[in-house]
Amino acid sequence: MSTGCDLPAQVKGLMPVEQARAFLLSQAVVVDGTEVLDLRQACGRVLAEPVISSVNVPPADNSAMDGYAIALAETTEYRVAGTALAGHPFKGSLQAGECVRIMTGAPVPAGTDLVEMQENAEREGDTVRFTEALTTGSNIRRAGEDIALGSEVLPAGRRLTSSDCGLIASIGQPQVTVRRGLKVALLTTGDELAAPGTDLVDGQIYESNSYVLAPMLEKLGAEVSLVTALEDTPWATQDALQKASQQADLIITCGGVSVGDADYVKAAVEELGELVLWKLALKPGKPLAFGRVGQALFLGLPGNPVSSLVTLHQLGIPLIRTLCGETVAAPLRLQATALTLLKKSPGRAFYLTGIASLNEAGQLVVASTGAQGSGILSSVSRANCFIVLEQERGRVEAGETVTLELFDQWLL
Ligand code: AMP
Ligand code: MG
Repeated sequence: MSTGCDLPAQVKGLMPVEQARAFLLSQAVVVDGTEVLDLRQACGRVLAEPVISSVNVPPADNSAMDGYAIALAETTEYRVAGTALAGHPFKGSLQAGECVRIMTGAPVPAGTDLVEMQENAEREGDTVRFTEALTTGSNIRRAGEDIALGSEVLPAGRRLTSSDCGLIASIGQPQVTVRRGLKVALLTTGDELAAPGTDLVDGQIYESNSYVLAPMLEKLGAEVSLVTALEDTPWATQDALQKASQQADLIITCGGVSVGDADYVKAAVEELGELVLWKLALKPGKPLAFGRVGQALFLGLPGNPVSSLVTLHQLGIPLIRTLCGETVAAPLRLQATALTLLKKSPGRAFYLTGIASLNEAGQLVVASTGAQGSGILSSVSRANCFIVLEQERGRVEAGETVTLELFDQWLL
């Protein structure tokens, strides 16, 4: 396939994860199509256009204190002309020597020079003396101080968080234009797979990968069409891929991509489209296929439960986010002290699962969740982070510093 970048589509030996990710991203063209959503439905979706404010926030100069809004004069006694509460402004303007009783958030009346806090005021009937020197401009929050009219509140490419939605509400905007959700066909393959709720017969195991992968995709706003337990035959595999390619932007398979006797995915994609197959320098998750079937991109994940989760997380999710038009930042990585010995030999990057916490001295520490086999999903279930051991690193003794990636919203 055309690489569109300088990276080799196939490398001898093992492909470093970063190189595989860069290659996938180089092939990602943002999907067409936007939709206008009510703000209440928009959290988690990707903005197709920047959000520009058509108002000032706050809309008017207002008081930052409970106290008195004052129009300065050469006097020690000010006349109280009225009251201003949040939602009930003082109507009228202040003349020099006048003040109004004002509460936090209430708009300051026209003519106000400053707000003085009530602790510095001595009131008798309708007159007030102030015990401290008065400074023009104090305790007034200015109109547009948070968001100025005409300014960009959020850029295109932003995946909306809950506080983003609040921010958009705060400028009075009820709807947003977002990218359409990606159409993803998820196919899990294997004659041995039985659906939960059925009885296992000889040699069967329960199909679990779709229960991990589909929610990860749905959290990304994808419309997922699911085929579980696709039969291990060349014709069933080709047929399913063909059908998926007619409606999906991206086809994700899991399993059947190695070179075992029942692995038909590679051959089927090669027959219908184009494919590169890498041995990633990654554990868990060695075999990874990438290509195209018709108009759809194709990503072939390994079948082992932990491997498929790690490769979707590390490679598939950045690809999907880019296809959705999202601007993707590198994940936050932290340094922690290993509490346990971590067995490793150089040559592949390891993504071990761990439990990170603060010790009594307030330092970040991490323990392995135990057995780290590519089929041991219980170790992932107990974890709150990946311990990322670099490709060339060897065995890690307890007490050494390691890199962590805390589980993000796609995994939790
Ligand atoms: P494969 O890559 O198809 O050889 O699969 C590797 C291992 O993962 C085998 O032990 C499969 O039984 C297992 N496996 C593959 N797909 C699934 C799935 N959807 N759910 C649970 N286990 C799976
Ligand atoms: Mg299989």
